[in-house]
Amino acid sequence: MSDCFILLSAGKSKRFKSKLNKQFITYKNKPLFEHSLKVAIQSKLFKKILIVSNKKIKYKNIEVIKGGAERHLSTQKALNYLKNKKIKNVFIHDAARPNLSINLLKKLKKELKKNKAVVPYLKSENSVKYKIKNKINNLSRNRVLLTQTPQCFNFQEIFNLYKKNKEKITDEASLYLRNNKKIKFILGDKRNIKITTIEDFNYLKSENYYGIGFDIHRLIKNKKLFLGGVKINYHSGLKGHSDGDVILHAIIDGLLGAMRKSDIGTLFPSNSNKFKNIRSKNMLTPVLKLINDNNFSIDNIDINLICENPKVSKIRNRILKSLSNLLSINKNLINLKGKTVEKLGIIGKEQAIACEVICSLSK
Ligand code: ZN
Repeated sequence: MSDCFILLSAGKSKRFKSKLNKQFITYKNKPLFEHSLKVAIQSKLFKKILIVSNKKIKYKNIEVIKGGAERHLSTQKALNYLKNKKIKNVFIHDAARPNLSINLLKKLKKELKKNKAVVPYLKSENSVKYKIKNKINNLSRNRVLLTQTPQCFNFQEIFNLYKKNKEKITDEASLYLRNNKKIKFILGDKRNIKITTIEDFNYLKSENYYGIGFDIHRLIKNKKLFLGGVKINYHSGLKGHSDGDVILHAIIDGLLGAMRKSDIGTLFPSNSNKFKNIRSKNMLTPVLKLINDNNFSIDNIDINLICENPKVSKIRNRILKSLSNLLSINKNLINLKGKTVEKLGIIGKEQAIACEVICSLSK
């Protein structure tokens, strides 16, 4: 006796309004349905995986059958197909929930040891009203259970219930409740969201943007050294129109690059006296405004500081703290690496410091 994962992928996506059925739309580089399929395979909880689909798909060791005109008819077909195949439990999952986790599968499996029906749900975070005829009534949100999938059942029991069923049902939990059968409801997973409309899809598929930044300044005597907005004790400082902070300049270029907003020179022309001797941390202000106004958020900043001295290990923490303050992001999102150049060239002779940065943003 083994467990079977049934992936329902035959829906017509009437509410999705796209030419392509949503199960096959590309989400994070894969067709939507493949995400939960992969999780089911990786979980190693299932001896059998069955996809119900109206499109021809082929996967090694995975069985595919044609679906019905409605969701419940597809489930019915799947259950009929599994008859006499020694299945103990079935996990019935909608392909439109790509963010299924192995953790949720394990929680469901554990509960199935003591229960014949286990269904994940979420509490409602919105206040709830319901309508009877033309009257709208209040319903306490504490009494609302929003059911998710996979919904898990003892095979024989759900097979028998489906056999008798003549009505359209939108999930298996409805069938159980209709027949006064007991269900163990367990708290589901917020990320296990269902994609129903194209808006849901656009909301979920966060877009990532990457920008690269590079800067180099000559070291000169009698100037203070600023790196990442921090004043560093050193025999020289960086020559430049501003304070010459190579880290901040490279970060600014990286951020502008990711947003496709040209470069630091366009924002702060070096022939303009307005910006003479400007502290580089003030140059971040218009860049952070662009990030905000265009709904970007910073996911990651990776920095290579290229110099023989000062030693990065001695200044790393101060710089990370300063960058985290200046950019208003968690310190964990920033990485600073030091790189020496085997005493080669002007950097090796301690006549210049360079910096390169990659910034990753999402929108
Ligand atoms: Zn610069």
